[in-house]
Amino acid sequence: MKVLEPLIFEQSAEGRTGVDLPELDVPGQDLTALLPEEMLRQTEPELPEVSEVDAVRHFTRLSTFNHGVDTGFYPLGSCTMKYNPKVNEMLARLPGFVNLHPYQPEELTQGALRLMSELQDDLAEITGMDAFTLQPAAGAHGEMTGILIVKAYHQHRQDAKRTKVIVPDSAHGTNPATAAMAGYRIVQVPSNERGGVDLEELRKAANEEVAALMLTNPNTLGLFDENITEIARIIHEVGGLVYYDGANANAIMGLARPGDMGFDAVHLNLHKTFSTPHGGGGPGAGPVGVKEFLAPFLPKPLVKRKENGKYTLDYDRPLSIGRVRAFYASFSVLVKAYAYIRGLGGEGLKQASENAVLNANFLMSVLKEPYHLPYDRVCQHEFVITPKNLKSYGVHTLDLAKRLLDYGYHPPTIYFPLIVEEAMMIEPTETESLETLERFAETMIKIAEEVRTDVDLVKNAPHTTLVSRLDEVAAARKPDIRWKKSE
Ligand SMILES: *Cc1c(COP(=O)(O)O)cnc(C)c1O
Repeated sequence: MKVLEPLIFEQSAEGRTGVDLPELDVPGQDLTALLPEEMLRQTEPELPEVSEVDAVRHFTRLSTFNHGVDTGFYPLGSCTMKYNPKVNEMLARLPGFVNLHPYQPEELTQGALRLMSELQDDLAEITGMDAFTLQPAAGAHGEMTGILIVKAYHQHRQDAKRTKVIVPDSAHGTNPATAAMAGYRIVQVPSNERGGVDLEELRKAANEEVAALMLTNPNTLGLFDENITEIARIIHEVGGLVYYDGANANAIMGLARPGDMGFDAVHLNLHKTFSTPHGGGGPGAGPVGVKEFLAPFLPKPLVKRKENGKYTLDYDRPLSIGRVRAFYASFSVLVKAYAYIRGLGGEGLKQASENAVLNANFLMSVLKEPYHLPYDRVCQHEFVITPKNLKSYGVHTLDLAKRLLDYGYHPPTIYFPLIVEEAMMIEPTETESLETLERFAETMIKIAEEVRTDVDLVKNAPHTTLVSRLDEVAAARKPDIRWKKSE
């Protein structure tokens, strides 16, 4: 349905109201006298004047302008929301969890500490690491924590010549950003024709100045690097450490472990792989796991199980990099991850990964015909296609993404990874039914057909949304997202 003249914010009418409050009937009380003079506002707040019906309709309507996983298929690559079981939301809201206070004494928080301790152990088992911190608040924050641990390790060994971090050209932007913020110089290594790290180039870059290599595997092309153990060996041989960006672990859970591939440290995004919805800015959690030799450098405090079976927050960690956030973690996110892991169990986690990989390969095999597939090999949880074969029609990836909106789909990630021109990165996730995947594939095939028969239809899309193509710079720089009093 097309809304022609949307009245979104411009609904205020002077004197209109949705509430009718009785007169203050507390005798002798002038409430304004209770507040210090300088705290009393001098002018009326500028608020829209609307009826209850207007207000309810306004917010209900706004909620329908958005596309979420609860409204439809959302195959955004890499940063996709995986499965967020609703029951985990209920568990995270249990009164015993939500009413906790971080200053409560340990005797009264044993249950929460036990949950954190067991989650640390579960994540260590899933990734093949020896110790975990749950403190970091997001993936990028986990990377920062991990690289600070790497730095502390080299400093502790008085190995001062390590000034570089190697990052492949397919890396998520947070990897080089993290390394730069930690004070390292970035050395970029190119990918080979199979989408993995170019070993020759890596050997050239690997020397005594390398503090670490940061790697995502499967990488942002959705490809598993077949040379991973050799890559780790090359870096270890020159004394560097190997860091795993595990933001999206839904291709490997229960199937392969970074710790067994040769990685020394990892972070996971609980808000991607382990059942916390994201988007809109959080809360999230980016726990970091390390091998035994790096454990002394983990942030403090660390949740620990004592000899007597009680749990405690261990501050006695002299080599620790210190705290990386206030208090201990985004606790509700931890509850959801714990519930997800314990709910599925080892076999269930493995099956989730297998389904994610199967779904991605199914879509890839159908879409490589109507589109161009830059790396034609088995993919993991996601894959990249492009409209290179349709280039003569003047169509771009942005046009395809916009046209998908007309069919009720959230578009995949576009123009990332940067190493593929006109990239469209598709991640269906483990949750979607065969019917949903088939319908999406049919839609993509139909759009390729439209490009051939009526390219303007695609180039001018979307046609069914409230607004069509936005000036994206203006939308970011001068957002018009609230009511303003008219002059
Ligand atoms: C999402 C993502 C990150 C960053 O995680 P945030 O929680 O958004 O900071 C890092 N690396 C990869 C591969 C990602 O997909």
